[in-house]
Amino acid sequence: MRSLDDFARDKLAQRERASRRRRLTPLSGHGAHIEHQGRRWANFAANDYLGLRSDARLIRAAEAALRDEGCGAGASRLITGNHPGYPELEADLAALEGTDAARVFGSGYLTNLGLIPALVGDADLILIDRLAHACMWSGARLSGATVRTVPHNDVDAFETALRDSRHRFRHCLMLTEGVFSMDGDASPLSALADLASARDAWLMVDDAHGTGVTGNGAGSVQAAGLSPEAVPLRVGTLSKGLGAYGGFVGCSQVVAELIVNRARTLVYSTALPASIVAAARAAVDIVRTEADRVRRPSALAARFADALGCPQPAAAIVPIVVHDEQVALRAAAAFAEHGFWVPAIRPPTVPDGTSRLRFSFSAAHTDDDVEGLIDIAHRVLHQ
Ligand SMILES: *Cc1c(COP(=O)(O)O)cnc(C)c1O
Repeated sequence: MRSLDDFARDKLAQRERASRRRRLTPLSGHGAHIEHQGRRWANFAANDYLGLRSDARLIRAAEAALRDEGCGAGASRLITGNHPGYPELEADLAALEGTDAARVFGSGYLTNLGLIPALVGDADLILIDRLAHACMWSGARLSGATVRTVPHNDVDAFETALRDSRHRFRHCLMLTEGVFSMDGDASPLSALADLASARDAWLMVDDAHGTGVTGNGAGSVQAAGLSPEAVPLRVGTLSKGLGAYGGFVGCSQVVAELIVNRARTLVYSTALPASIVAAARAAVDIVRTEADRVRRPSALAARFADALGCPQPAAAIVPIVVHDEQVALRAAAAFAEHGFWVPAIRPPTVPDGTSRLRFSFSAAHTDDDVEGLIDIAHRVLHQ
């Protein structure tokens, strides 16, 4: 269709002019390195925080399940896709999180997209941190609830919004992240949990970047010293620190049952392959037993932040904001030139005028990888 292609061309040209056009590069990777057309880079862009993506134990577990159960799951979990690995993984995740139950979804994105509309609707209020991940926004909009944006990590603003508006709505869901994906800072969970409990609001924390990394691997609720009940909805992903694929929420048993009945992304989407579920189980076991591996990405991020004079990160992510799109792209290209793969993060992923480089650290990085990065960062950023 001509009008369709014209539309696409126009949109792309707009992006190009704003230095916001994105492109896909085929990259293959092992451990903390990636390769493309014979070149090799130390990868400081991935979310494989524990280096489990290529761990032999995950691969062996996946291979065995692949042979036993086949490639695809064949149907949604409610039809015939709920292979025996699922309840085992959910029990392991609940034990890791310290929650009564856990429910696994097709991805972290699908978790938020299915969970939020399963819990709130027209008569309800959502208070969401301005910097919350795109998929929380998608789930919030899809739910039909009234959505109010709260400035980033602003406890007073959450409190004011609750005081002024809570009574006009049936239920209230508060949405934030454990470790913010593009800023690397933590949310003030303890204060938010107090507010939620005082005003009968449901606090949901998306801990995609905390799972396996903070709180001895149990995530940001644990790191904040809170009991599992203080945060009744704890979303995580199997795709980042855990090196596999999928998403989950740690919650009460009855909420887990409601999800099976109401979360459309679980009900109407094919189950994860058994191989992936088996790999995720192996990863959870490693998180629970290898404390040094769990501590390492945060320690490396802290070392880098210290060397570059950045604020101390809450976990394994350090942003350096350069503001302008083109400056970010040029800096990323300079890092690539020197053998370091670092992404330039631009709007709409981050607010206008806050383009940045985002450095993420992994237990798979060697000390030399990080020292080399520090060296190049001084040269690229402080010249
Ligand atoms: C990456 C991310 C997700 C999505 O998880 P996937 O498993 O990659 O779909 C959700 N929330 C946050 C905060 C994330 O950073």
